[in-house]
Parts: sequence; C-alpha cells; structure tokens
Amino acid sequence: MPPDETWSVDRLAGQLRAAGIASADKVFVHMGLRPTGLARSEIPNLVEAFLQTVGPAGAVYYPAHTYSYRGWLTSRPFSPDTPCSPSIGMWPELLRKRPDALRSHHPTHSTGGIGAGVDRILAGHANTEAVGVGSPLDLLRRQNATVMLVGCGFESCTILHLAETLAQVPYLGQCPDADSLMGLTHTVTGVIETRFHERPGCSKGFPKMEPLLRAAGAVAYHALGMAPARVCRMQPLVDAAVAAFRENPFGYLCDCEHCCYVRGVCGSP
Ligand SMILES: [Zn+2]
Repeated sequence: MPPDETWSVDRLAGQLRAAGIASADKVFVHMGLRPTGLARSEIPNLVEAFLQTVGPAGAVYYPAHTYSYRGWLTSRPFSPDTPCSPSIGMWPELLRKRPDALRSHHPTHSTGGIGAGVDRILAGHANTEAVGVGSPLDLLRRQNATVMLVGCGFESCTILHLAETLAQVPYLGQCPDADSLMGLTHTVTGVIETRFHERPGCSKGFPKMEPLLRAAGAVAYHALGMAPARVCRMQPLVDAAVAAFRENPFGYLCDCEHCCYVRGVCGSP
C-alpha cells in the first residue's frame, strides 16, 4: 500500500477537523472499528487522532459499561479494573487500558474519559442513575459536548436514554424483575448493592428516530477512515429527542422481549 493510503494520525485528524471537531472540544465517541477499514496496526492512530484534534484543553469520552446488574448472571460486580462489556466492542477497552484514562464508578454504565476536566465530569457517577440527571452524559450535555457515532448508528447512542428520562417516558424503570434494577459494585469491604429507579432499556429502536433528528438539524454526516460518522452536538440532539419521545413515547421501542414487556405493562397497544 502506498504511504499516502495508510490511515495516519494526521490523515484521521484531518477527517475529524472536517467533521467539525475542534481544539478544546469534549467528544463522546461510540465506535464500530471494523467499518473504519483500518488495519490492526493503524487502530492506535484513531485514539491519537482524537486526542490531537481536541488538544490539551479538550477531552475524549467513551462508554465503559459493564452492566453489573444482579440479574445478569454473565456479569460480575463492577470495580475500576473490570473489563468493559464485549457487547460494546473493542474501542472502550483500547482507551480504558491507557494510563491517562479515568473511569467513573458506576456499576452498570461506567463512563471513561481522557483529557482536561474529565475528573470533574466523572466524579459523582456513583450517586446518580446510569444515564439520568447529574450523570456524566448529562453534565457533558450541559457543556454542549459532542457525540460521535463512528461505524455505528443511533442504536449505540447512549445519551438518547437521557432524553427518555427528561421526557419522562412511561416505561422508565419498568423491568420484569427487581434484580435488573440492582447494580453490584466490588469494594474493599465486599460487594455493595445500588437500587436504581431508572433502567436504560433497549436501544435497538432508536434508529427509527433518525429522520426526525436529521430534520431538526441535530445530526451531521461525515466519515472517519472508511466508516460513516454521525456528529451531534449533545444539547440540540437531546432537545430533538425529548420532543420525539414526548410526541410518541412508545414509538422508539422495538419488538424484542423487553420492549414488548414494557409496552404491555404500560398498556400501550
Ligand atoms: Zn427492544
């Protein structure tokens, strides 16, 4: 492969700048690595490109979810070194293993970050709902941070669960069993349990909202590597999503077992 066709840090950073990412930005990145078309040896360049583009005054965030619910037999209690769930891909693990990465102490929806101000954004997560008011995603929204969906769509967009909370959708916190609302955290004195009142549920139906989000001007379309990259400023995204959930509260569920359950419990057709 000729040198100018490799995905260097500079080339990827150029794509990020073309996508509107600037110095001092705070960017929450959901990433499907395979669609980027990068060789394995080039994947570290992605991390460097993000850090170079936002610079020392900016920060890069990522989901570091472990889903340590008591009801999930496959998960173990959260601790700061618990690997991220394989269901959210390899990207979070790449970042989590860096020495400059910090991580919030939340048993189900831990958030990771590298850069300026990350400690303040992540500090209080042990005392909030997963994606609710006061959570890292909410604090980032208030700073009008950016969310990027690279090689994935709105089914991966965790902040839409915050919009569900702000819109007070009727199915918030509806679960078939109490264990699915109980988070487990490993501490030096043993495992502690946290009872939640909200439960970020299924997100497979969220892509149904994309035409509305696009019409509201809340999403821009770019590329990173070979992958499509959706770029959304958090506040307009959440505003448009809250309006959509208020207009049609059950409209963004899918037909999975969980979505059928919450529809049934809430008396939706
Ligand atoms: Zn579903």
